[in-house]
Amino acid sequence: MTTTAPNPAYDPNNVFARILRGEIPCHKVYENDAALAFHDITPAAPVHVLVIPRGAYTDFHDFTHRATPEEIAKFWQAVDHVAQQENLLPAGFRLITNTGPDSGQEVPHFHVHLLGGEKLGPLLSRKG
Ligand code: 5GP
Repeated sequence: MTTTAPNPAYDPNNVFARILRGEIPCHKVYENDAALAFHDITPAAPVHVLVIPRGAYTDFHDFTHRATPEEIAKFWQAVDHVAQQENLLPAGFRLITNTGPDSGQEVPHFHVHLLGGEKLGPLLSRKG
């Protein structure tokens, strides 16, 4: 699998980079040569899987602009595979990807949250 040159803004010690290197354990649910999917450590729904690319991309924008078409295709195929594997069709599910400070992105490695297994309620919680 070809990947593009490293982004100098990418922190190679972020927690998902460490999971990819096997330095931190995860509960893997699926992988292909472009993506890894594992359970979120703090689930927000009965099914809460994180899907991450193997390449070093900080967020959705970085991934979309720098990843190869093959990486992008295989990443989204992994997301779809997990949705089927977790029996989220046809009841449905939600995909979320936080990007940058306003979103509250905590881990600076592009990831998609795949949430389902119950009615998920409103898209955003109301500000107090
Ligand atoms: P973000 O806010 O960046 O979109 O989401 C980061 C997610 O990563 C959070 O939902 C958090 O629970 C999850 N997370 C943080 N550290 C770990 C970890 O070490 N293992 C796993 N499996 N999930 C993590």
